[in-house]
This record gives sequence, structure tokens and C-alpha cells, in this order.
Amino acid sequence: MQNFITNYTKKRYVLYGIISIIALSLPFIKINGNHFFLLSFIHSKLDLIFVSFSTQEFYLMPFVLILLFLFIFFITTLGGRIWCAWSCPQTIFRVIYRDLIQTKILRIRKNINNKQKEYPGQYFKKTIAVVLFYLVSLIAISNLLWYFVPPEEYFEYIQNPDEHLLLIGILFFASLLFTLDVTYLAEKFCVYVCPYARIQSVMFDRDTMQVIYNEKRGGVIFDGKFKLHKKPPQGECIGCEACVSVCPTHIDIRAGMQLECINCLECADACSKIQNKFNRPSLINWTSIKSIETNKKIKYFRFRTIGYLVVITIVLTALFVMGSKKERMLLNINRSSELYQISHVGDNIEVSNAYTFLFQNTDTKDHEYYFEAKLKDIDNGIKITRPIKPFKLEAGEQSKKIVIIKAIKKLANDNQQDIIFPLYIKAYAKDDDKIVIFRETIFVYPKISIFKEVK
Ligand code: SF4
Ligand code: SF4
Repeated sequence: MQNFITNYTKKRYVLYGIISIIALSLPFIKINGNHFFLLSFIHSKLDLIFVSFSTQEFYLMPFVLILLFLFIFFITTLGGRIWCAWSCPQTIFRVIYRDLIQTKILRIRKNINNKQKEYPGQYFKKTIAVVLFYLVSLIAISNLLWYFVPPEEYFEYIQNPDEHLLLIGILFFASLLFTLDVTYLAEKFCVYVCPYARIQSVMFDRDTMQVIYNEKRGGVIFDGKFKLHKKPPQGECIGCEACVSVCPTHIDIRAGMQLECINCLECADACSKIQNKFNRPSLINWTSIKSIETNKKIKYFRFRTIGYLVVITIVLTALFVMGSKKERMLLNINRSSELYQISHVGDNIEVSNAYTFLFQNTDTKDHEYYFEAKLKDIDNGIKITRPIKPFKLEAGEQSKKIVIIKAIKKLANDNQQDIIFPLYIKAYAKDDDKIVIFRETIFVYPKISIFKEVK
């Protein structure tokens, strides 16, 4: 006799375990001192796939977000609300609270296969369940915070709570909110709060995988929303309602696809156990409308899914190309508000322009930096008078330098107006010839009448 029992629920639990291990361990893994993902506001940096970017390189963030949304669109078109029951933290923590803490550990709920029935009383045990979940929430919220405050600093901060009240406040308050959400809002969050539940149906097509009751085999139970039969006169559904009582969102999937369905497939598992006794597969399957209608296999590769894959590949390639072209030093140049300074040196008059150079060492090693300045089409017309020596920047360090560039010969002879020269800056690390960047600014030289006024 063939075994038709499906084990989607166990597979989900295995996936939850894998996701939890990855989520908990990723913040602790560092390559070249960088995390897989860390958005640190204190250090003004973003670590992405073990590469560090400064705030000036945050232009990569929109690409990451676009990629995330495209991936959600793709996965929803292909597998329906697969995210909801298979990866969403809300569902994972509902399973931990309802099925593990309330049912298995404290035995408040008597039957894991009946998620509809409420058990009144037992207030002491129910309070213990909420307290236990609050402890779980503290770990979960800490885990989330490690993607914004690296664990090595996080553990140092929480040992000095007086100096880090904001972090401690966020930890306890967010854990409280999360506990209220999971213990009180429960699946109502999925139905009434989560925006994804509202928009996902527009991404569906007739080939999208959904949890579908096979009316052809089971028989018609509902006419739209109205229940016609408990058990169809002809059909394989025996009306046991195992699929209804196990449903965490309290719906009857035999009425068709509903907004409340989170795709957990517990109804499919429940029905498979019933139908297996009759040597038949489950009446509820993870399949597509078209597949049920035509009795053909699900079409995974179709115009929409291939389209999403192509766009994801393009955005991913753009992200990698931009990430790999990451500059190992950054330089922003601002001119001072004063156009130029004129000073007397003996009988000569000298012209200087002042700038603020903002250097940042975005490399993982310390380096010594300096720069060269050159006017367009004029050799040896200027010299750098400040700073006169190279300077050291530690890995990740930012430093503002006041830069004075002086004309060392007469650059122009115009009576009417100041002359603007393009000024080219080549900044580099003295100890690594691969670290070099070029910038362009201007050097302003006064009209001759200004010299006469100064005399
Ligand atoms: S209908 Fe089935 S798949 Fe949908 S939420 Fe209920 S048990 Fe899960
Ligand atoms: S579990 Fe299967 S047989 Fe029982 S009511 Fe649901 S669909 Fe019908």
C-alpha cells in the first residue's frame, strides 16, 4: 500500500531551525573584519557581504532593497505565500509560542492538531507561557539588534546599562511589543496588519502555487462563502474537518483561496493522514489552479517568472560590479567661501586658494596619504603649502584637512575679471600604488585691478 502522508509541517520546522541558526550565527561571522550585514549608525558604515562601505557609499542600499522586493515578487509569483509560513518570523515565533511553549511544554493546549479550540482558565500556566516567550523575545530582538550594533560591542554595552540606556530601552520595549504581538495579536497580525498579505494576490497568476482543495475529487462543499454540505453527497471528502481544526488562521480551505491562508500546509498534512486510510492522496495540495484544471504539471518557467529572474540577475550583477569597484579611499573637496587670499611677501604679492579636503580610508588597513595638485595647461604654476607632509589614516578613519594652494608665478593678466582655472587633484596612498583617486575643482586667480588695490 502506497503511503500518501505528507510532511510539510516537519519540513517547515527543519527550515525554521536552519533559518534560526543562520540568523543567530551570521552577526558573529567576520571576514577581513567585516560582517555579512551590518548597518552601523555609530560608525557610519554599512557591511554588505563582508565588504565595508562608508555612509558616502550608501547609494548601494537602494539596490539591495530593489533586489529584496524583486525576490519577494518572484517567489510570490512562483510559490504564492511561501514566505508567510516558511520563513516569516511572525509564523516561526507563533509556532514557538503556541505549538512549543503552550502545547508541548506547558500542556495548556491539549491537541497540536486543533488550533481552533481555546482552553479557558489555567491563568498561572498562561502567565508562565507569556513570561517564557518574553525571554525568547529578548533573544530575538537582541539578534535583530546585532545587525545594527555588532555583537562584540553589544555585549559590552549591555554590561554597562547606565551608559547605554537607549539600547537597553529599545531591547526591553521592542521585546515587550513583540511579545504582545505574538501572544495577543497572533494570526490577526497576518490578516489585518501585514501589508504583504493584502498585496500578494495581485502577483498571483493561474500557475502560481497555492494551497488548493481539489473539488473535482473531494466534491463541492461551499457555494462561494456559503457552506452547502458538511460532507458532499458524492466526493472523497468525508467531512471530518481535520483540515479546519488544524488551521492556525481559522479558515476552511474548502471554501477556496482566502486572504487569511498563510500557506502553512498543515491542512494538507491533516487531510493526507485521513485520505491515506482510503489509500488516496490528500484532497488539499500545494499546486496551481491550472494544474488542477488540466491535470498537468505546474509550469514553473513562464513569462513572469523568467522576467523576474532576468531583472534579478541584472540588479545582482550591477550590485556586484558597483561593490567590486569600491574605492579604498574617499575624498570630498569643498572650497572655502573666500575666493582667494592675497598676501605680500617682500615686494611680491602671492595668491592662495583654500579648500577643505575630507579624506576617508575605506580600506581594511592603515595607510599614509598625500596628494598632488595641477592646473590645466599650466605646469609648475602652483604649490601645496598646507599640509606639507603626508598623513596617516587608520582603517575606516575620516579626517578633514585644510588645504592651501598657492600660485608661484603670475597665472593671468586680465583687467576685467577673475580667472578660473580647472584644478586637478590626484590623491593616493603612499604605501599602495593601487589606491589612487582623482578629483577636479577650481583655482581662482584675481584680476589685475585687485593687485593694484592691495598695493
Ligand atoms: S488553510 Fe491550510 S495552508 Fe492555509 S493557513 Fe489554514 S492550514 Fe495553513
Ligand atoms: S481533512 Fe480532507 S477529508 Fe477531512 S474534511 Fe478536510 S478535506 Fe475533507
